[in-house]
Amino acid sequence: MASKVSAFADAGPEVTPASAAPVICVQNLVHRYENRTALNGVSFDVRPAELFGLLGPNGSGKTTLFRILSTLMIPSAGRATIMGCDAAQEPARVRRQIGVVFQAQSVDLKLTAYENLWHQGHLYGLRGAALKRRIFEILSRVGLADRAKELVETFSGGMQRRIELAKGLLHHPGVLLLDEPSTGLDPGARRDLWQYLQMLRDEEHVSVLVTTHLMEEAERCDRLAIMNEGNLVALGTPEELKSEIGGDVVLLHAAHDAGVLAERIRARFHAETTVLENQVRIEREGAHRFVTEVVEAFPGEIEALSVSKPALEDVFIRRTGHKFWSEKNEAESNSEDHRR
Ligand code: ADP
Repeated sequence: MASKVSAFADAGPEVTPASAAPVICVQNLVHRYENRTALNGVSFDVRPAELFGLLGPNGSGKTTLFRILSTLMIPSAGRATIMGCDAAQEPARVRRQIGVVFQAQSVDLKLTAYENLWHQGHLYGLRGAALKRRIFEILSRVGLADRAKELVETFSGGMQRRIELAKGLLHHPGVLLLDEPSTGLDPGARRDLWQYLQMLRDEEHVSVLVTTHLMEEAERCDRLAIMNEGNLVALGTPEELKSEIGGDVVLLHAAHDAGVLAERIRARFHAETTVLENQVRIEREGAHRFVTEVVEAFPGEIEALSVSKPALEDVFIRRTGHKFWSEKNEAESNSEDHRR
């Protein structure tokens, strides 16, 4: 039986020490589809009761990694373990430890919330009064106990996603894996979902791994692995990652050639610049003074400018040299939509 997580443990967030034994261990994971490398030697750990985010643009390898962790695929090389069990060697043991919420809907719309959970419980060997009790317990947890006997097709998108969550949690898993869980949800339902995930971490000490391509979701995670083209490009708390950027971020929209403008700024101000399409990007302390000097130095060369505090997108740009949403991964996403 899965390791039991107390359903109503003492409330209140706990900081998990970095030294605590990891719940998920990803070691040098490689995956190739024919001649395309989707994962190129990725390693990281997820700690107990941590809300861990896998952030990356389309095509970065998140789904591939997710499928390996959820035992649906065997990696080409490397190893992934969950609560000490190898995902490739001991899939049945891993499945008992994890709850999985896929991007695609798995609830049966023609059944009630209760019936959906009843069938799910049977798949995990739960029966009778204990299952009934657990169904009402978990439905209360996701705020839908009073809708138990209603057809899921009458629920809003956010409520249906909460039933998905309840299905994933029914057998008391210690680890919950969610693939892009807020796809298709409106902002209110998205906020609710993240509150549930935080509650699971704080009150039931479940470790949660979420894939996302949304920066605002990544900001809510305790720690993040940022992926790009199959590589892990950054790992840490959102604050740690952002603090590696010294000062503010200045973006200058070039009136003409951004490459030429960047070169002239480098020469004149000894500033490190990155060219992003028609923009020049500079990390700088005292940015307000700096932009005044740049605008005065290059009249007519700058169409617009912005100064902002570092964001996760800046971490991505610093580590990869390009924007999170580049033309390349947009094109990849479109061709993938065709394939699916
Ligand atoms: P993400 O979830 O971050 O969008 P994926 O894991 O789906 O990334 O994809 C990573 C890379 O692997 C991409 O280049 C994608 O085109 C490729 N890929 C994914 N699934 C397949 C497949 N079944 N066959 C061939 N290539 C694939």
